Amino acid sequence: HADIAMYRAKEIGRNNFQFYTPAMNERALERLHIEGDLRNALEREEFTLHYQPQVDLRTGEIVGVEALIRWQHPELGMVPPVRFIGLAEENGLIVPIGAWVIRAACLQNKEWQMAGLGHLRMAVNLSARQFAQEDLVESIASSLRAADLAPEYLEIELTESLVMADVDRAIGILRELKALGVQLSIDDFGTGYSSLSYLKRFPIDVLKIDRSFVNDITIDPDDAAIVASIVSLAHSLRLQVIAEGVETEAQLNYLREHDCDQIQGYFFSRPVTAAALTAMLEEGKRLPIEILTL
Ligand code: C2E
Ligand code: MG
Ligand code: MG
Ligand code: MG
Repeated sequence: HADIAMYRAKEIGRNNFQFYTPAMNERALERLHIEGDLRNALEREEFTLHYQPQVDLRTGEIVGVEALIRWQHPELGMVPPVRFIGLAEENGLIVPIGAWVIRAACLQNKEWQMAGLGHLRMAVNLSARQFAQEDLVESIASSLRAADLAPEYLEIELTESLVMADVDRAIGILRELKALGVQLSIDDFGTGYSSLSYLKRFPIDVLKIDRSFVNDITIDPDDAAIVASIVSLAHSLRLQVIAEGVETEAQLNYLREHDCDQIQGYFFSRPVTAAALTAMLEEGKRLPIEILTL
């Protein structure tokens, strides 16, 4: 189906007439469009980063941000990462795109530091293709140098499947990254295929609890138990723990009562532009003290 639709789409493009049939596979068409446009998006400077704050549950302050890529497509508008990261991963474009993300994120973080807006930890997502690159560590080091950013203010988010694909190689690279001085976290923790025994072999600093566990934390006792267990596991291993996808005060309260360190989610803020995050930092946005003392 997809092939036929793609073939038709090519024909349409060549003959330059508009002819849409219900049978046409819209997803395949979109994919074709997106894949072609993705190749030019970097040089056309169509990517931007949005930043989502991470707040400390003891002080209520913003202590970090996660950089999340956005693609401003000339016709489609804002394309979310779920619609192009997988493609970019397949065709390898994620490598230059990912390198751009790290460079831009480091520069932005330095800018906030220079403006006296605090020393935040800047988290970036790393894809499997990037992780497989020979020059990954050097590329990250060069982004830090270019921004003149101290390495401890950069955090690399990895997933379980990414590090589990080749454990020995992963441990080697993670050690190199730690030697460089960056922070390492496991994203979407609990959703991947992993083995707890590796947690102690990987030099990880932070676990990010996947939002699928956080979602029903206040209504599903199993999810509540899983989250409480992840927090205590993390602390036993001297790791920090961040809960993702926190949308309600009830979720926040549960996490605070169970000693979770930080939260990230719509309850505090959606991912926002650099300018909006700058404004947040300038006005000292934080969790209200009532929430932290109840
Ligand atoms: P992720 O790394 O787990 O990022 C968190 C995602 O959850 C973000 O979606 C964020 O907007 C969303 N989110 C945050 N708080 C809430 C909440 O309270 N409720 C709900 N429903 N969602 C929340 P986004 O920005 O669409 O990114 C989706 C995924 O795309 C990311 O998941 C990450 O895996 C990938 N991604 C984003 N940027 C990059 C990038 O620069 N490089 C790579 N390799 N992957 C990226
Ligand atoms: Mg992430
Ligand atoms: Mg995540
Ligand atoms: Mg994810």
